[in-house]
Amino acid sequence: MTKHVTHWIGGKPFDGESARRGDIYEPASGRLAGTVDFASRAEVDAAVAAAKAAFPGWRDASLSQRTKVLFRFRELVGAHRDELARLISSEHGKVVSDAAGEVARGLEVVEFACGIPHLLKGGFSENVSTRVDAYSILQPVGVAAGITPFNFPAMVPMWMFPVAVACGNTFVLKPSEKDPSASVRLAELWAEAGLPDGVFNVLHGDKAAVDGLLHHPDVKAVSFVGSTPIARRIYETAAANGKRVQALGGAKNHMLVLPDADLDLAADAAVSAGFGSAGERCMAISVVVAVDPVGDELMARIRERVGRLRVGPGDDPASEMGPLVTEAHRDKVASYLDGGVAQGATLAVDGRDPDVLGGAGGGFWLGPTVLDHVTPDMDAYKDEIFGPVLSVVRSGSYEDAMELISANPYGNGTAIFTGDGGAARRFQNEVEVGMVGVNVPIPVPMAYYSFGGWKDSLFGDSHVHGMEGVHFYTRTKAVTSRWLAASHPHGYAPPPPGS
Ligand code: NAD
Repeated sequence: MTKHVTHWIGGKPFDGESARRGDIYEPASGRLAGTVDFASRAEVDAAVAAAKAAFPGWRDASLSQRTKVLFRFRELVGAHRDELARLISSEHGKVVSDAAGEVARGLEVVEFACGIPHLLKGGFSENVSTRVDAYSILQPVGVAAGITPFNFPAMVPMWMFPVAVACGNTFVLKPSEKDPSASVRLAELWAEAGLPDGVFNVLHGDKAAVDGLLHHPDVKAVSFVGSTPIARRIYETAAANGKRVQALGGAKNHMLVLPDADLDLAADAAVSAGFGSAGERCMAISVVVAVDPVGDELMARIRERVGRLRVGPGDDPASEMGPLVTEAHRDKVASYLDGGVAQGATLAVDGRDPDVLGGAGGGFWLGPTVLDHVTPDMDAYKDEIFGPVLSVVRSGSYEDAMELISANPYGNGTAIFTGDGGAARRFQNEVEVGMVGVNVPIPVPMAYYSFGGWKDSLFGDSHVHGMEGVHFYTRTKAVTSRWLAASHPHGYAPPPPGS
């Protein structure tokens, strides 16, 4: 039995008429699990038309009507969290507990959006001139589009649409074609929550669907999360078409370990942040920078922990790390092992041919891998590998280490492990990276702050969720208003007696 995933347009499933489809795999077995429709231009038009038609009604829905729907959606997603987690795990490969974690992080954005009446308050200045008041109001932009990556099929869309919808916009989500089912399930839950038809739509597909959205005159705002080359292209194309755009790109996150760090804490952090979700996280730690003389001792503790990591299918509760998303991606990630060694790195832990729990064969497996003595000129350092490969760079000093991190073209996340508050404070002050952890390896901001990196990790000037999300999905209107005095002959006159 294989499944077939269709679009969700105007509050119901919408069978694709285009002959183009993509394959959906089950990464743990390597089995072809189903197909997903790829939108043609006509289907892009249908989704945007549904969103456009729903906009006037949703824009004018009272704040309490909107928040009622959001609260119900929050309850429904919470109630279906395990089901969503299993769906995500089956198509992505990550372990179910990790998938449940991503649903929980997405829910935090829904909870933030439930407070939208407070967040949409504008400013008011009385008597800016005689009997003149000035005020600002935040209005929705119209139809917003979200284009999202495979690695968080629920959380990343939920960084975007709860805020967009709460602000009164309508939304077209183009999720990753590799794991498209969670987005359709979320659309069904929106419908059950009472969201009017057409406010939230899901359009599946590849570049053709994305290009359709980027060139569509009725799409007013584009949020993108994915790899850097595509993020740059989305930013340029959407901006050239007059849309506001936020485009979050790839990452190469460094974890700096100073000699005075708690090495057990640092080793635990490096292993969980390096190999959780098989390293397919934009905030994964992919480079450990060990400042002399801590390298050998830290490596010993990392190796010991990596040896205990259990690799297995996502639905086995004993598994701590699942397979990679596709065979092609697994092969590309694995190519960095020989490549790294050829360029002079040491293969400290070789993840090829891992012991997989249950002996599951056929899946897209690669066990945790550690490359030691990596240097900045190597491809394993320069490229975003996006898999379970942790590189360790040895550094002679704190200064050199910080310079290395700041010089990297990516600037998504970074962390420092130290017992020295002054060193940590200097790091958070000077490092050229957008999200910083101090003795915390994955410093993902809470929903009421905003998420986003610097440099090649984000194109545009607006991060996602939090107040930056509210500003991205609204336009400010400034009103200056004069009302004459009630006694003025041209002002308010009381109604004649008896009328
Ligand atoms: P991707 O860039 O291949 O795809 C992202 C989205 O763009 C998908 O919906 C895909 O269908 C679409 N797309 C792919 N090629 C396209 C093209 N040529 N033109 C238009 N659209 C296209 O990314 P991915 O492999 O799905 O996800 C992994 C990447 O996402 C990694 O680089 C990771 O760092 C990044 N990511 C970044 C963040 C962040 O917050 N900065 C978060 C999650 C993932």
